[in-house]
Amino acid sequence: MVLKVRRNRKAERELIERIREKNTKGRDPGISLTDLVYCSRKSYLRLKGETPPPDDDAILTFSFGWAMHWLSERGPEKRKQIEGLWYSPDEIDLALDPENPEKKIVVDFKGTRKSSAKADLGAWPDQLGGYALAEGTNLARLQTLYYVGQYGGKSPVTKSDGTVEIPTPFSPQHRAWDLEYDEAELQGWGRELGRRRRMIEGAKKLEDIPLSEHFDWECKYCPHWGNKCPGGGGERLPWFGAIETQEDIP
Ligand code: SF4
Repeated sequence: MVLKVRRNRKAERELIERIREKNTKGRDPGISLTDLVYCSRKSYLRLKGETPPPDDDAILTFSFGWAMHWLSERGPEKRKQIEGLWYSPDEIDLALDPENPEKKIVVDFKGTRKSSAKADLGAWPDQLGGYALAEGTNLARLQTLYYVGQYGGKSPVTKSDGTVEIPTPFSPQHRAWDLEYDEAELQGWGRELGRRRRMIEGAKKLEDIPLSEHFDWECKYCPHWGNKCPGGGGERLPWFGAIETQEDIP
C-alpha cells in the first residue's frame, strides 16, 4: 500500500478566505494615530481609498498577530477618538501607584518575526507614545510574541542576576516590555504627530507627500511599491529610538 498525498490548493484558498472574512474589520473612517507613525504617503493613499485589500501572504502574516490578540486580550478593543484622531490601545491597565491611583499603563500586543535576542522595539514605542499622550500617562507596556524566538545567537546567555538562560532556537518566546517616557520627549512627540497630521491632511490638496516620510524598511512590505509609488530611501527614524534597558522586574 502506498499513501497518496496531493496538495489541495482549493482547500488552501478556502481557509485563507475564511481567515480574511473573520478578520478584515473596517479601518477607522478617518485618520488614526497609526497613520501618523508609519509611512505618511501610504496613510494618505489609504485615506484616499486607494489601498488594495491584503493579499494571501499578508493575511497569513497578520493571522499570527490576530491569533495573539484573540488569545491575550481581556475583551474587545475600544476605538477611541481624541481631537478627531482615532486610536485603539489593546488594553489599559492601572499602574497601581498609591500616590496616583488613576495613573494608567497603555498596553499593546505585538507579534513579530524579529529575534527576541535583544530589545529591538523599532517604532512600537512611537505608536504607544501616541496612546500614552491620548490617555494622559507616560507609561506603556508591550506584550510581545516572538514567533521564532531567539535566533542569530544560540549560545547560553548569562543574565544580570547570574543565572544562565539556555535559548531554545526557533521556539516562540514572549517578552513584556515596560516603557517609561520622559515627559518632555513625549510632549515633543505630540508636536511631531501634529506635524505629520497636518502634512497628511494638506496632501489632500497638494496630492503629494515627500518620499522621505517613511522608515527605510517599509517599502518592501507595501502594496503601493512600484505601483502607485516608486518607493524611496525613507529617512524616518523612530522618535523614541534611544532606549535604555534597565534591570528586569522580577
Ligand atoms: S512604497 Fe514606500 S514610500 Fe511609497 S507608500 Fe509604500 S512605504 Fe510609502
